[in-house]
Amino acid sequence: MVLLGATGSVGRSTVQVIREMEGGLVLQGLAAHSNVDAMFKLIQEFHPPAVCMVAPEAARALRDRMQDAGVEGSRVLDGPEGLVELAALPEADIVLCAIVGIGGLPAVLSAVDAGKDVALASKEVLVCAGDLVMRAVAARGVRIIPVDSEHSAVFQCIQHRGESEIRKIYLTASGGPFRTMSGERMRQVTVEDALRHPSWNMGPKITIDSATLMNKGLEVIEAHHLFRLPFDRIGVIVHPQSVIHSLVELVDGAVLAQLGVPDMRHPIQYALTYPHRHPASLPALDLASIGALEFEPPDIERFPCLGAAYQAGRAGGTAPAVLNAANEVAVGAFLGSRITFAGIPQIVDRVMQAHEVTTGPNLEEILRADDWARKEATKWLLKD
Ligand code: MG
Repeated sequence: MVLLGATGSVGRSTVQVIREMEGGLVLQGLAAHSNVDAMFKLIQEFHPPAVCMVAPEAARALRDRMQDAGVEGSRVLDGPEGLVELAALPEADIVLCAIVGIGGLPAVLSAVDAGKDVALASKEVLVCAGDLVMRAVAARGVRIIPVDSEHSAVFQCIQHRGESEIRKIYLTASGGPFRTMSGERMRQVTVEDALRHPSWNMGPKITIDSATLMNKGLEVIEAHHLFRLPFDRIGVIVHPQSVIHSLVELVDGAVLAQLGVPDMRHPIQYALTYPHRHPASLPALDLASIGALEFEPPDIERFPCLGAAYQAGRAGGTAPAVLNAANEVAVGAFLGSRITFAGIPQIVDRVMQAHEVTTGPNLEEILRADDWARKEATKWLLKD
């Protein structure tokens, strides 16, 4: 396999899964953005034939480090071109993409074109370019296996069933740290408050997205492409315990759910061993000690990002890419304490309002829309 985004949150969990599989998975390639220390350690442990540092200065630092230490045998690629090359390595059968943001898109397309299955953790890839990617997947006869826990759950419940047997799917949402907070108080939350996720331990960007429910909105768009379902057949249900990872309602009224402890190593391992099951040493789900599972509808008034994502998804074309890019800029500004928590949906809304949707966009048009949205969002930041 090839692992893209090896030093991030999902990447680190993936490395744990690979270790535990004791040689069942062989790393042919590893990519990271700029964390030279972490990449150097991974090279010493796994000896991959090729690695890539997306930041060219990090690639130079890594080459120097390897030369000084006398570490040989791993070719060091760099830049976005290196990432695309790594994703198409002939030795690999499957590429796990866990790069945060749209940066993983060209690499995923490269892997698909090279005839590889893709275990996909980067939801932005399908959010921004779902039609394009799924067309390429169908043309090459490869598979996208979801790593996002909700989509993995749906994937596990659906199995071989066709779209005509499915009435609706429900993605579960923990509701984030502000689930029970009044709209008034939510206006005063700090970055630390928002980073305190109740059930999942993730990177900062996705943790803020979980607090705004934008993460769930992006997941709705991702599900639309993965499972080829219209938006009115994709629901969201808030479930604070994060034990049920998602549900599938079949046309006969039966509802299937996938349950487990909230740990990314579960969906990661399943994506990498699919269609087989491999023993794992993760803690078992202890329902008796959990006691009760709760559910409630999402509150679109307090969490406008969820509604904005449905709207962008229905608009299609470049709209989801613009939504995603504007949100990324807004979340970055919030993390840097430049805007308030309530400012995030405001920036997203302003950029969406100003966008003229291009339908059926190609890769270049998607990347251009992404770029435009970032500039537009930054403009609004400077105005406020
Ligand atoms: Mg998820």
